[in-house]
Amino acid sequence: MPEIYDIAIIGGGPVGLFTGYYAKLRELKTCIIESLPTLGGQPNTLYAQKKIYDVPGFLGITGEDLTTKMIEQLEMFDCDIYTDTTVKTITDDDGGVKVLQTNKQDITAKAVIVAVGNGAFNPRRLAFDYDPQLDEQNVDYFVKDINKYRDKDVLVAGGGDSAVDWSIAIDNISKSTKIVHRRDTFRALGASVTKLETTNVTKVTPYLIEGVQKADDNKIKVTLGKARDKDNKRDIIVDNLLVNYGYTSDTKMLRDWGLDLSGPYIKVNQKMETNLPNIYAVGDVAEYDGKLKLIVSGFAEGPTAVAQAQLKIYPEKSYYEHSTNLFDNQ
Ligand SMILES: Cc1cc2nc3c(=O)[nH]c(=O)nc-3n(C[C@H](O)[C@H](O)[C@H](O)COP(=O)(O)OP(=O)(O)OC[C@H]3O[C@@H](n4cnc5c(N)ncnc54)[C@H](O)[C@@H]3O)c2cc1C
Repeated sequence: MPEIYDIAIIGGGPVGLFTGYYAKLRELKTCIIESLPTLGGQPNTLYAQKKIYDVPGFLGITGEDLTTKMIEQLEMFDCDIYTDTTVKTITDDDGGVKVLQTNKQDITAKAVIVAVGNGAFNPRRLAFDYDPQLDEQNVDYFVKDINKYRDKDVLVAGGGDSAVDWSIAIDNISKSTKIVHRRDTFRALGASVTKLETTNVTKVTPYLIEGVQKADDNKIKVTLGKARDKDNKRDIIVDNLLVNYGYTSDTKMLRDWGLDLSGPYIKVNQKMETNLPNIYAVGDVAEYDGKLKLIVSGFAEGPTAVAQAQLKIYPEKSYYEHSTNLFDNQ
């Protein structure tokens, strides 16, 4: 018999992490399922080095540091975490238990809290085929550890906030940094573009990447071309290429799950209930009148969803709890 969780949380972004922590605080058997290899959602993936100024208790905290703190908090309890695991379908078994079919194993739970943000996101990839082995060493779509670029020749591709911010950050530690963009002007915030001018980052514009090939000494040859000048090509040899072309997010599965949607988001009531029994939604994916898509909004929605789920699963337990009463904290 597979283990039946009280609550399965889909999504390991900040809201899923806090909701998981809160469910464990209430001693509910809980798991968090995350499609990416790492936890943290948007703050850790899209703006790891940017400071967030509207999380209470912090004068400013980077997306990466917030994620580290939240994982530490979650580790106070024994919460089961499934990373690299994407929920594909949700069905009910004969007894009304939810069966979450993933790309790996099935996971069963009495209640489900959907915290999938803007959906399973994937980076926009280079638009041509290249040797997939280069993805292991030379071509990146995420910055997992900036130190990878220390003393290296790095080419960053893209014209938005991420590309410009990463170029600036990488320039501090790399041997050389270039940024390639298909236009002469960058889309990033004005302040970031101004800052870029003060660095040693070389701008290579207006060029598009047309090919990537293995070169000597574990380097790669990146071939650039101009959209309206087909004969104007140039090659750049670098150690690493960081592609920042943005992300696509996929919420199509929500429709397949039978959830009542408002655009790509899940309609919820004040109890965070969806149209389906024992399925709740929190965080960016949860939609109601006046919704503010902020981390703190999700931090309030998580406890509501957990308390509601608990009320259904264990009606004898107290709905309302202060955490100060839960442990002997003298
Ligand atoms: C550039 C930028 C700056 C921002 N700045 C701020 C700010 O200053 N302050 C603020 O409050 N907010 C800010 N936000 C918004 C904030 O990041 C979001 O409100 C927050 O991340 C929502 O958290 P979440 O957990 O609901 O969703 P997400 O962070 O999107 O996490 C959802 C997680 O669910 C996973 N997932 C999706 N589908 C599945 C599936 N089927 N199976 C398993 N896992 C799945 C995803 O991989 C993802 O990790 C910013 C956003 C951006 C893009």
